[in-house]
Amino acid sequence: MQFKDIVGQQDVINRLTEAVDNGRVSHAQMVLGATADGSLQLALAYLQYLCCEHRVHHEPAADGQGLRADSCGECPQCKKMASLMHPDLHLFFPNASTPRVSSGSYWSGDFVSEFRDFVADRHGLGTVDEWYAWLGVENKQGVIRELDAAHIVADLGLKSYEGGWKMTLIWMAEKMNTAAANELLKTLEEPSPGTVLMLVAESDERMLATIKSRVQTVRLLPSGADRWAAAREQYAPMLVEWLRMLFKLRMHELAAQVDKMASLGREQQKQLLGYTLETMRQCFLHSAAGLPVDLGSGDQKFDAMFPQMVTANNIELINNALGEALMAIERNANAKIALMQLSFNMSKALKKR
Ligand SMILES: [Zn+2]
Repeated sequence: MQFKDIVGQQDVINRLTEAVDNGRVSHAQMVLGATADGSLQLALAYLQYLCCEHRVHHEPAADGQGLRADSCGECPQCKKMASLMHPDLHLFFPNASTPRVSSGSYWSGDFVSEFRDFVADRHGLGTVDEWYAWLGVENKQGVIRELDAAHIVADLGLKSYEGGWKMTLIWMAEKMNTAAANELLKTLEEPSPGTVLMLVAESDERMLATIKSRVQTVRLLPSGADRWAAAREQYAPMLVEWLRMLFKLRMHELAAQVDKMASLGREQQKQLLGYTLETMRQCFLHSAAGLPVDLGSGDQKFDAMFPQMVTANNIELINNALGEALMAIERNANAKIALMQLSFNMSKALKKR
């Protein structure tokens, strides 16, 4: 797996490769994010980058976009990592008895060839339920249990075959049972040199606090519906503040708010405007069809009042105003001027409800 195979997550990836290049490799890490959003892909690409013999560094693009570095994908280390056959890569994942392996003492190692095939077939994006179906465990829930943990500890005690990093990857680490987690803790307390323990988890809610505190967590940017919730968390206060000002139109306050918005990075300005577009769409669906909307303002009166301002009479004007501002920002226009113009256009549009 290479970083270029992953959709999005560029900033996260660039931070990771920079850390590796600067010799900052944390011995215990956790990638937190949905598998479908690329958390397993990211972990695999990271480990491949770690052991690649000819890392490739790209010229930074003018707009700051693009990956700064990636593994080569060609060297023997990369080839072994791509097929998940690297002798120093140890794979652990939730497992359960199957028609083929039904005796009591099974562990991840009994299913590793199925796991390799599954990852290859789904390009690392297959969910845990898809994995259970692939494995044929029927209605059983997979667990990472004591026997897995004992193998993890034993693997980390081995010498590296290839002389490089010893890598242990635990996919869906939240499926570890308590006994396994406690066993693993000992290893996390005193990691042996040259080892990297990489946990991949979709949620850390039920994970032992002692595990969480011992790993360095890399959080993936969520996609789709999650991205909306994350954007709301990040931008709702700023947006709500701005919307209030559009009614009052007190120039010095508005100018200060626009300054605040213009001080965001260009990508964030685009996210803010994208979030605003989506919010306006939801407000319109609320006023036109009664669908629920949550502005996240923390002010019930405002949350009830504002969506009524977006109607069939002005939704197009609002969309156009936001579209123009987005285009201006994309073209690198002066953000303050673009956002001030947008404020006037929005203010006018909202009065036409
Ligand atoms: Zn390579």
